Amino acid sequence: MIDFQSVIEDIHKDIKHDVNRGLVASYIPELSNIDPQQFGIHVKHINGNSYATGDWNVPFSIQSISKALSLALVLPIYKDAIWERMDVEPSGNPFNHLSLLELENGIPRNPFINAGAIVVADMMVSHFKNPKQVFLDYVRDLANDKTIDFNYTVAKSERLTGFGNYAAANLLKAYNNLENDVDEVLDLYFHQCSIEMTCEQLSNAFFMFANHGKCLQQKERLTSSQAKRINAIMLTCGFYDEAGEFAFEVGLPGKSGVGGGIIALLPNHFTITTWSPGLNERGNSLLGMKALEQFTTKTKLSIF
Ligand code: GLN
Repeated sequence: MIDFQSVIEDIHKDIKHDVNRGLVASYIPELSNIDPQQFGIHVKHINGNSYATGDWNVPFSIQSISKALSLALVLPIYKDAIWERMDVEPSGNPFNHLSLLELENGIPRNPFINAGAIVVADMMVSHFKNPKQVFLDYVRDLANDKTIDFNYTVAKSERLTGFGNYAAANLLKAYNNLENDVDEVLDLYFHQCSIEMTCEQLSNAFFMFANHGKCLQQKERLTSSQAKRINAIMLTCGFYDEAGEFAFEVGLPGKSGVGGGIIALLPNHFTITTWSPGLNERGNSLLGMKALEQFTTKTKLSIF
């Protein structure tokens, strides 16, 4: 049996003082105030054991990590009809890129670039009377933690500066791929991104993806086929134009966010969350990528 606790402690010790930590996201002004020295790791094993080190218990902005959870919420409702409104191909482009959206007539490349996640948010607005609360309750249930909440200041900060996301939503609307009002859909999107969670809460919420669709409480949230498909999209599209590099270096399905979090998992084995706010030039946590590369190298646990 691998000693996960010493593996993550060794990794943490090895890189926690790295001078090159990347840059904290500043295009959402409210995110720029975060202390870049923070760094945490949390592992949830499929047998229920947890291993943690560093700042694993500090809540941070999950940002794009929310896109995997919103997809998991709508997939059992809309099923394959989802794929009429978006594709499952890597974009090879940054998360906020728009040119492909126009070239491909308003069909986003995948659910994890912003345009795709905005279509998923539109599905939530169409289906639920109070989609913000439904999404928050879903995340709380998955993590088994009622303390999880939106950060309204971050959501507002993104609304005031989110011109690119307004452009994406308007383009989707022009191509008839948005059923609801642009402001209403983006209000949900900005709030889902603003949710704050700790590494532990994220490892717990993503447990279903490592457990054939059954969450921590062993309730079926996704069929095992749906969990498999979302894992496939996380592997191919979870890191935008760095998805190839992540598969090459780490070899796990996962999802990053500009808050500096990365969640990754190995089906039947574990979920792992890292958090360090400094990002590389492609918007993924620099220390997080490094830690996960070391983790799969040291444990020899990856999908390859
Ligand atoms: N809310 C952010 C945005 O739309 C999410 C981006 C991210 O985490 N990559 O720009």
